[in-house]
Amino acid sequence: MKPLGESFNPFFMAYSIESFYKGQDMKLLVLGLLAVSLYATPQCYIQGYPSLITSANETAVTLKNGTILPYHTQSAKGTWDEKINNGDLEMQLSQRYDAGGIDTPPPYLFDPGRLRYQPFFQALYGKDQKEIEKNLVTIEWATLKGKIKLPVTKIGGVDKKLFTIGQEIAKLPKSDRIWAEGATTYAYRVIKDTDRLSMHSFGIAIDLAPTKTQYWKDEAPSETAHIGYRNTMPMSIVHIFEKHGFIWGGRWYHYDTMHFEYRPELLAPECLSQK
Ligand SMILES: [Zn+2]
Repeated sequence: MKPLGESFNPFFMAYSIESFYKGQDMKLLVLGLLAVSLYATPQCYIQGYPSLITSANETAVTLKNGTILPYHTQSAKGTWDEKINNGDLEMQLSQRYDAGGIDTPPPYLFDPGRLRYQPFFQALYGKDQKEIEKNLVTIEWATLKGKIKLPVTKIGGVDKKLFTIGQEIAKLPKSDRIWAEGATTYAYRVIKDTDRLSMHSFGIAIDLAPTKTQYWKDEAPSETAHIGYRNTMPMSIVHIFEKHGFIWGGRWYHYDTMHFEYRPELLAPECLSQK
């Protein structure tokens, strides 16, 4: 008698198929099944950006504006530094985002959403500064001293989502709301000490409470250094952002606890951590 549920076990499936085929490609098959069970699928892009992406498979992701992007690129290699500098669309989903609690610090080099394929963001939000800025609008953001205006992209309704987030934060108790002060959004700039564009360059990111939050680089000299996790951002704010498609930099081993960015592909049902 096989235990119930065994047919859903990729190891068991691979074993059964081996006894049937006795083929040469078992290693590949096992790896393939493991990949399916451990990593997100291209579908996450369609689920995440239903108004901007028309198709996605293991070869390419096609945008409504006609741009076709490769799912996998040759430049995406093995070391951490290579991954962080040359991610691709497959790698962008390779670490699953967990929108639950944060009872344990993120494991070593676990940065869901931080491995990015820059041409994807350029294709969605604008290929250069001029094109990106054409897509910016300003939204009102409530602070304890009154409303301020923040520039943000209108592509994919990101402006409306961030506005709603601001309204929901404004209903929180003052002890939480103080963590949404000092907000900044758009700035065309590279990430500190790199030549990669920051997500702030596309008008899809926001930083909160910059003087009271924590950034890994203030403590560690290099990407592969061993860093102690720190955070003071309340989860009440984090959960509001996640509900509207924004991920939080406080879930990264390379923590950036002031930082939120619009990455709905990581929050698509098929792609969320199944913990
Ligand atoms: Zn930021």
